[in-house]
Amino acid sequence: MAKPVLMAVDDDPQVLRAVERDLRKKYSDQYRVLRAESGDAALATLKQLDERDDDVALFVVDQRMPGMSGVEFLEKAQKIYPEAKRVLLTAYADTNAAIAAINEAGIDYYLMKPWDPPETQLYPKLDGLLEDWQSRYKPPFEGVKVAGHRWSPEAHRIKDFLSRNLIPFQWHDIEEEPTSCVVMERAEAERPGQTLVIFPDGSHLLEPTNAQLATKVGMRTTAEKPFYDLVIVGSGPGGLAAAVYGASEGLKTIVVEREAPGGQAGTSSRIENYLGFPGGISGADLAGRAIAQAKKFGAEILSAQDACTLRVEDPYRIVCMHDGSELRCHSVLIATGVWYSRLDAPGVERLSGRGIFYGAAMTEAKGCENRAVVLVGAGNSAGQAAVYFAKYACDVHLVVRGSSLGAKMSQYLVDRIESDPKIHVHLNSEIVEAHGDEYLSAVTFGNRKTGEKTKLDTAGLFIFIGATPQTDWVGDVLRRDDKGFILSGPLLAEGENRRPKGWKPDRDPFLLETCVPGVFVAGDVRGQSVKRVAAAVGEGSIAVQFIHEYLREVRGAGA
Ligand SMILES: Cc1cc2nc3c(=O)[nH]c(=O)nc-3n(C[C@H](O)[C@H](O)[C@H](O)COP(=O)(O)OP(=O)(O)OC[C@H]3O[C@@H](n4cnc5c(N)ncnc54)[C@H](O)[C@@H]3O)c2cc1C
Repeated sequence: MAKPVLMAVDDDPQVLRAVERDLRKKYSDQYRVLRAESGDAALATLKQLDERDDDVALFVVDQRMPGMSGVEFLEKAQKIYPEAKRVLLTAYADTNAAIAAINEAGIDYYLMKPWDPPETQLYPKLDGLLEDWQSRYKPPFEGVKVAGHRWSPEAHRIKDFLSRNLIPFQWHDIEEEPTSCVVMERAEAERPGQTLVIFPDGSHLLEPTNAQLATKVGMRTTAEKPFYDLVIVGSGPGGLAAAVYGASEGLKTIVVEREAPGGQAGTSSRIENYLGFPGGISGADLAGRAIAQAKKFGAEILSAQDACTLRVEDPYRIVCMHDGSELRCHSVLIATGVWYSRLDAPGVERLSGRGIFYGAAMTEAKGCENRAVVLVGAGNSAGQAAVYFAKYACDVHLVVRGSSLGAKMSQYLVDRIESDPKIHVHLNSEIVEAHGDEYLSAVTFGNRKTGEKTKLDTAGLFIFIGATPQTDWVGDVLRRDDKGFILSGPLLAEGENRRPKGWKPDRDPFLLETCVPGVFVAGDVRGQSVKRVAAAVGEGSIAVQFIHEYLREVRGAGA
């Protein structure tokens, strides 16, 4: 980050050198000292600084200069840098003019030439002014900047990817911010309406893919090694637990994640029932700690990479990714979890991403300040989201199909919802229609018992219903149940036979092993799994134990 500037302006080269020298001597650690030989030259420099978003903390300017006096210059400079402190250098004869300037032109201080010794005549005065400037100074944001329309699906995807991957960014809403701002000007100069991402090095991309974003912000998207002991697909709690145990026990381990670490848990505002965190922990915090722990033991994490096929070339297992690259290994752990089911009602698909979101509580809640929002669902995820949204929104309407909240939701959340006056629960209800042309403007929900319909104006509908595994990518290689959950261990038994068709090893499949030896499954994506953070973590850890045993088998066979 460029240091703020202290600028000396004087047409007398000797005085200018002296000011510059004294400023550098005391302040060069914290500030850049620039000099100009006239008011015009100084204004030209200020223009360049302003274009680069650099800050100026202080001007020290001689009053007597041909062409433009010190006061005239400071009045002009104030328009560009209104917060900068203004010091006028004067000779004894100009004292009256300097005093007048303090009153009329808002000069902060006048300094009589010569100012020797600076330790008593200069620095104490400037220290005070700079302290005051620092107390109001907000350093410019140096990270990623995103400019777009609030309800654009692409803007949502980009913001969601950055925030879930813990990349700080500054959001600029094209409709709400003045177009005079530098980011907005660039957004408008590109293709208006599209989402622009500006990176700290000054480069920019229009609506970049997750993979492009990941590369630009320095996340790893390609594997380091040609071969791994263990490839883990999915970095939710199950995948990350396996990465920590696998890597810490010496396995060459790599994790592939298409969106963000933490999986579903990473989208939770506060997990309160995970062992060891009596005050609760946010999903992002839990994911951040787990990632750090896995990396500490040497696990590689590939971001924005989507596993899209699984191939077996005995004794090797090969995971192919969306970009055509492949990961070769001895064993695979599938921990790809589940994601919310789609809500089927008129208008919902069309307005998806334009005010209607699946999950997304953490990314969108702050943007819903003082607005009414509608949430659908009755599980813990909907409950947590309702409590979280109530911190920002003026009203939170929770639409629940069943006749009670407690059927699927933990009691601590039910209690919180019932005691929060901002949350309104609509039982026995379902969404009938979503309204809006370009963006969501209202939602109608109906009571399944009475048939009564209610239309609510809202800018946000957030859906937390059901959950489906996204396992089509494993094709026919692995056995799945009719909902797509991957079967393992005893669930693979066919009648009396505990081993699936085509099974070669001289043993039954391990508890978390799929119908392909060496390919394991853990967490929510597993058939008959318990949908809990602790369960996924437990299964991810246990799977590593079976993986060791499997690796002993293949290595014993000389692979
Ligand atoms: C909002 C919310 C709140 C919750 N609160 C709680 C709670 O308080 N307590 C509790 O115990 N449980 C809670 N749960 C449930 C808990 O989060 C899940 O049970 C847990 O996250 C499951 O972990 P997992 O590792 O099996 O899968 P997931 O967490 O679903 O992670 C799977 C990961 O795999 C990635 N992935 C999927 N397919 C691919 C692919 N083809 N290639 C690469 N990556 C892929 C996904 O992007 C995802 O990151 C909550 C869930 C939600 C959504």
